[in-house]
Amino acid sequence: FHSPPVKSPEKDAHAEKIRKLIKPSNIRDNLRELTKTGHVAGTEKNLRVAKWIRQKTIEYGLENVHFNEYDVLLSYPDWKRPNHIEILDSNGTVIHKSTGRSKPLTKEETDEETELQWLAYSAEGAVQGDVVYINKATPEDIAHGKIVIARYSHSFRGNIAKAAVQAGAIGCLIYSDPQQVAILGTGPEATYGKTDKMPPDAVQRGTIYIGVGDPRTPAFPSIKGLYKEKTEEDLLNEKAIPTIPVLPIPYSEAKIIFERMNGKPVIPGFQGGLNVTYKYGPGFTNNQKLKLSVCSKKEERKIQNVLGFIRGKEEPDRYVLATNHYDAWTYGAVDPNSGTATLMEVSRAMMEYMNKTGYRPAKSILFGHWDAEEFGLVGSGEFAEEYREQLMSRAIGVVNMDLIGGNQTLLGITNPTVANVLRSAARKVEHPNPSEVQEGRKTMYDSWKFYSPSKNNRSNEPWQMIPAGGSDHLPFYNYLGIPIIFFVTRSLDTFPSYPLYHTMHETPHLMENILDADFKMHKAIGEMFVESILAFTDSKLLPYDLKELLDDVTLEFLPAIRARFETAMKDKKLMKYLEPGYEQFGLLEKTCQLLNEQVHMRNESLLSQSSAARLKVENDRLMELEKCFIKPDGILGNRQSRHLLFSPSQENWYSGNAMSQVHDLLTRIEKSKNDKKMDKLSKALAGEIGHIHVAFICAKHSLS
Ligand code: GLU
Ligand code: ZN
Ligand code: ZN
Repeated sequence: FHSPPVKSPEKDAHAEKIRKLIKPSNIRDNLRELTKTGHVAGTEKNLRVAKWIRQKTIEYGLENVHFNEYDVLLSYPDWKRPNHIEILDSNGTVIHKSTGRSKPLTKEETDEETELQWLAYSAEGAVQGDVVYINKATPEDIAHGKIVIARYSHSFRGNIAKAAVQAGAIGCLIYSDPQQVAILGTGPEATYGKTDKMPPDAVQRGTIYIGVGDPRTPAFPSIKGLYKEKTEEDLLNEKAIPTIPVLPIPYSEAKIIFERMNGKPVIPGFQGGLNVTYKYGPGFTNNQKLKLSVCSKKEERKIQNVLGFIRGKEEPDRYVLATNHYDAWTYGAVDPNSGTATLMEVSRAMMEYMNKTGYRPAKSILFGHWDAEEFGLVGSGEFAEEYREQLMSRAIGVVNMDLIGGNQTLLGITNPTVANVLRSAARKVEHPNPSEVQEGRKTMYDSWKFYSPSKNNRSNEPWQMIPAGGSDHLPFYNYLGIPIIFFVTRSLDTFPSYPLYHTMHETPHLMENILDADFKMHKAIGEMFVESILAFTDSKLLPYDLKELLDDVTLEFLPAIRARFETAMKDKKLMKYLEPGYEQFGLLEKTCQLLNEQVHMRNESLLSQSSAARLKVENDRLMELEKCFIKPDGILGNRQSRHLLFSPSQENWYSGNAMSQVHDLLTRIEKSKNDKKMDKLSKALAGEIGHIHVAFICAKHSLS
């Protein structure tokens, strides 16, 4: 229904030849080197990895290869004193204590630091009390004064922690239920080693900071010595980081908790896969108590993004960014170094092709290996803040990857204007899995469409999610208005991540024995990288499809909001508070309709044949139009979240509706019981819709 606006046979021929040079064995060797130890951002071990990537990138022949450094606030456990939980009997005697470590299971798992169980930016301290089970963390009154136990699900763990804080909990435990990550009804023999399932004492580590970059410096680069706006104390006072201890526990420990819970058995949806009747609590039978101890230090550390360039021969001042992070919670063999290893090989293959043939891309490529992504997109976020003006005027797109999490299908996230770039890349690359091909799904595109059919107006296309949080593309689209494509692979039984996500078992053993033994999926992803990069650098007219954007807006985004208004306004009391927003919304719809008609009259293939000078004008306008959606002072008072169409939802950082701020405000008005608050929210709603409207007016100006 939507294909790339313009075809370019010459570009396709180059891409195809570069793709052939990608060697799976090189990717495997890269991966082995990158994952020799755990390498958390801000540590010596991660600096070793950075130096190695830099060295290799210089050897490949990229230009201006260097470290781009920042001094940022990170967070670490006490490596000698693991975080843990204890169960005390009614006399206060400890009757159970967790080790706070996961056990190594393969011979590669030799780095003891990777065993520790922790979540970055947790508050430090020990709390003792009664436990309540909140399943997927909806803040409830029952959590007040309690230690909550929540289950990992589709939501970002930062939102789970935030919900616990808001509900007045004193501590928070998060565990992965075997229903999602293991094989039900079987013991450890069915878990990792032979399969990619999660063993009973593994945990998903991760950050619980919701934001971008150094938490002390929102919208300000943390360059060495430069002013840092907030102290750790400020951050705690503002609740910008969690104010209670939060800890991931393995499901073997969760079972010990559930076995002694008081209270009513849970509703069916809350029952998980452990062989015990799940109850809400509060508290334990026999007056036993739970104690949670977290040692966490927040420290300023140096981080380094590793950057390297290929200079374009026609328009060197236009850049596409090809990126992946390289810091990891443990060894990182899936997240993120499957991607790092592949991106390195892509840059090598491009240089090999250039050296052999004299080819050069028309526009420049920045290969970026980001640091401290895991703590909250810290390296990419600081870079986006420092190079704000240059990126806004010169960067034409970001192709970001993060991991190869399975060898079956794709998960894709894109701005609508460049969704076509990812689809065409997937169409060109053959699926490496013979069983897929046998089923008639020959390309990456075919299997993607089969397993994730479109959930929106793109009938007969694969599902492409709109951008939210979760990886390094966020600062680029959300802060700077640069269109992004992001893709990862996944296996079919897990969504959105994989069972061993952020566990200590992310070593090459997992990749080479279970997930992608011959690195063919890695190569396929490398090929998609090449196709996507060249679509940006070597298309004469930028591959921004305004028709697709406006179709999404008029057929999907706006109708979704209209439907919510219409339902909510049936309520007489809500009506009064919704009306001002609804009126603004009607005006917005009209402008979008006009713009829609205008873009559908554009003839891209004719435009692409214009003179170089005329093309430059068109391309400048396309870039300008994307920037119209950036509101300089941020949406909802958040300086860092500036995109009027796409931003993470306040409920779940990993996802968002288009115009999340409108959806979130509608939800708040619906839930609110306080008239004064409703009045404020009502004004905010009308205002936010008004800002979106202004963006579309601005977009119209870009075309005229
Ligand atoms: N990828 C990391 C995670 O999912 C960081 C995401 C973020 O901070 O946006 O935990
Ligand atoms: Zn990652
Ligand atoms: Zn990660």
